[in-house]
Amino acid sequence: MSENRQLIDKLYAKNILSRSEFKSMLDCYTQEDAQYLFKLARQVRERVYGKDVYIRGLIEFTNYCRNDCYYCGIRCSNSNASRYRLCDNDILQCCDKGYKAGLRTFVLQGGEDIYFTKEKLCGIIERIKDRYSDCAITLSVGERDYEDYLAWYKSGADRYLLRHETASSDHYKRLHPEQMSLEHRKKCLWQLKDIGYQTGAGFMVGSPFQTTDCIVQDLYFLYELRPQMVGIGPFIPQKDTPFAKESSGTLEKTLFLLGIIRLMLPYILLPATTALGTIAPRGRELGLLAGANVVMPNLSPMSVRDKYNLYDNKLNTGKESVQYLNLLTKSIEDIGYKAVSGRGDCKSIIIRKEERIL
Ligand code: SAH
Repeated sequence: MSENRQLIDKLYAKNILSRSEFKSMLDCYTQEDAQYLFKLARQVRERVYGKDVYIRGLIEFTNYCRNDCYYCGIRCSNSNASRYRLCDNDILQCCDKGYKAGLRTFVLQGGEDIYFTKEKLCGIIERIKDRYSDCAITLSVGERDYEDYLAWYKSGADRYLLRHETASSDHYKRLHPEQMSLEHRKKCLWQLKDIGYQTGAGFMVGSPFQTTDCIVQDLYFLYELRPQMVGIGPFIPQKDTPFAKESSGTLEKTLFLLGIIRLMLPYILLPATTALGTIAPRGRELGLLAGANVVMPNLSPMSVRDKYNLYDNKLNTGKESVQYLNLLTKSIEDIGYKAVSGRGDCKSIIIRKEERIL
């Protein structure tokens, strides 16, 4: 048996490998190794979640952002971005549309837009929860104060997505301007967990300057944090950013990492992301076959779809929109899985601060 197969078996049995084992596996694996990993990853996800795939309605409600991340198309210094904000009623209409289509999780994502104050967002969360008490709300609005996180949780928000982007502080500095720090981002993640959110971290695959060591640090950070969700997707350049000329992350590496993360954190809610669907026609289906169990179709109004340009050529038609939810459901059935209606919570217990594995 190849050395990598033995490592994959070990990861399956123990959920973790040493740093050097991860590194040697990531640096040279074959297509056969990957297929073997995916087979085990599917076994694990099916043991925990059966054949179910959870569907989230993604509402990109603002593309204003105070940050200037070098990779991101909605960074504040991109003057070509046409900025928009959805009002409460627009957001509720998106939820309406999604609810009728069977969705029971709404993900409110945006740039770091302080126009949406603690109070404003509390109001929106409460209105959604009032109308749809059987739905989960996921927030993804970046780094904010502990008080804001706490207030939104008390208003009814259930989950929070905040990718750590990279767990190497040197690498973090090469992706972000000086005012931002990995330390603060991590602090936010621990706070979100402490409050009781189902919390999601994650990183881009193939971002500029990323090395295998960075990825190993990402894996170790995820193992330590024990999030309920992990979002990973390939880096894709955006033409108005300093990284416009960089190359994208690959489908293969992203799939391989999805498989690894499923074995490391068997209970994880793991989306096959839009970015994965953007770099390859069957990217998301392949993601599901590598261990992912969540997809997040876009619920935003058509009029703003082309403005939330995190990266070039972002999917915004076809299966990306709720009108095409039937197509999405069908493509999930075609690979032997089942799109289910329902909140789709994480099946692990919420691990609190005192149980951190350090
Ligand atoms: N303001 C929120 C949401 C950010 S956008 C926050 O800070 O969490 C959501 C995610 O898109 C980011 O976390 C980042 O990982 C990803 N993203 C941004 N630009 C990207 C690019 N060029 N290619 C691929 N993913 C990108």
